[in-house]
Amino acid sequence: MYNPSSKHAEEFIDNAEILETLEYADKNKDNAELIDSIIEKAEKRKGLSHREAAVLLDCTLEDRNQRIYELARQIKKDFYGNRIVMFAPLYLSNYCINSCVYCPYHRQNGHIPRKKLTQEEIRQEVIALQDMGHKRLALETGEDPINNPIEYVLESIDTIYNIKHKNGAIRRVNVNIAATTVENYRKLKDAGIGTYILFQETYHKESYEKLHPAGPKHDYAYHTEAMDRAMEGGIDDVGLGVLFGLELYRYEFAGLLMHAEHLEAVHGVGPHTISVPRIKKADDIDPGVFDNGIDDETFAKLIACIRIAVPYTGMIISTRESEAVREKALSLGISQISGGSRTSVGGYAGYTPEERPHDTEQFDVSDQRSLDEVVHWLMKLGYIPSFCTACYREGRTGDRFMTLCKNGQIQNCCHPNALMTLKEYLMDYAAQDTRDIGVKLIDSEIKNVPSEKVRAIVVDNLAKIENGSRDFRL
Ligand code: SAM
Repeated sequence: MYNPSSKHAEEFIDNAEILETLEYADKNKDNAELIDSIIEKAEKRKGLSHREAAVLLDCTLEDRNQRIYELARQIKKDFYGNRIVMFAPLYLSNYCINSCVYCPYHRQNGHIPRKKLTQEEIRQEVIALQDMGHKRLALETGEDPINNPIEYVLESIDTIYNIKHKNGAIRRVNVNIAATTVENYRKLKDAGIGTYILFQETYHKESYEKLHPAGPKHDYAYHTEAMDRAMEGGIDDVGLGVLFGLELYRYEFAGLLMHAEHLEAVHGVGPHTISVPRIKKADDIDPGVFDNGIDDETFAKLIACIRIAVPYTGMIISTRESEAVREKALSLGISQISGGSRTSVGGYAGYTPEERPHDTEQFDVSDQRSLDEVVHWLMKLGYIPSFCTACYREGRTGDRFMTLCKNGQIQNCCHPNALMTLKEYLMDYAAQDTRDIGVKLIDSEIKNVPSEKVRAIVVDNLAKIENGSRDFRL
């Protein structure tokens, strides 16, 4: 029985409710009157229910679809301005005891080399990432209580936060590890993680069980209720996602929004981010065997509809996607992207930007540009790449961040921080042509800080950064 406030996965992600939602959406896909009323509600920027959003996703009326895209672009601009937050994944270990059929790290894969970084190797990887200019990482591991116990993850986080190298420092470590216990989430919280990210892979229970035939990840309820345990353990910011291609995208879309509604209903705060990964070719994995792949157009519609349905939730796209797909996705709602990513264990240190080791890789990336090329490209498109992690350092997480966002104070806070952290990047890491574009961009963006007082502080800090200081605060 559907109940968004239930503790039980099968009640807050109720299969019957999703099926009814899909039927309702299909029945109303060309119902102009209903679609107009949903778009009008969405224009109020307070979000939509999963049922309403599902109708927009299915909408077949061309002119209404154009309104949906336009609204997604506008909401993106209103809430996130032109800032794009930058990050990179860091693979610590590909040891795994699960059997996920789409992932090359599955335990039956006997030929992929297994590797786990030592603390010294982590130092080398992080220094390589810092030398690119990264300040925010997403840690990735397979699930293996013997090889990758929680103590290993905690020690690695501690190592990362304590690396001081030139002007660099990793200021926010997000963590993408398998579902775990409240006690372990509390330990991750105490270690100072940013967002806890866990992809649901699919919300469809029957498919989920087939796609995860063995290992701890087989347990649908344990996996689906992980975010509740994370929040119970004190983690404010959680990141949702599904692996598109495994199940019907319409089903996943409804499931994702129901999960967000559940978190809001029970914990008073929705997900901090939603990621939209699509299955990629990998060692031992042929994406063609999964029947539910979505084309780029459907993918764009999905992103636009998520943007409209949960305006306050950040959206992440990785280098799984090509430059062209990422460009479109950015305009429709994405607020965070990775750059210069390696998806292998130990893929950064000792390699040039062109070299990409494939042996321990989780999947092949489509966007193979360096971080500097991505930063350059973003600025040419009019975006401000942001290396900001201030909210997290100032304790503005969970509902405190959402309040800032909902009060429209982002422009006096995130915008200045983005400009200052971009300036740091330009001074410390950028190629000359990237720096030239960036300096001009920052000059033209200062006027968009509404408060005169804040603007004066920003101008002062930018000058300090230019003169070598890295000690700035709003
Ligand atoms: N092992 C952890 C877990 O079970 O959640 C950590 C996540 S794993 C390192 C990161 C994510 O990569 C997975 O959640 C999955 O969605 C995604 N992934 C796995 N295989 C993939 C593939 N072939 N193409 C694209 N993404 C894939």
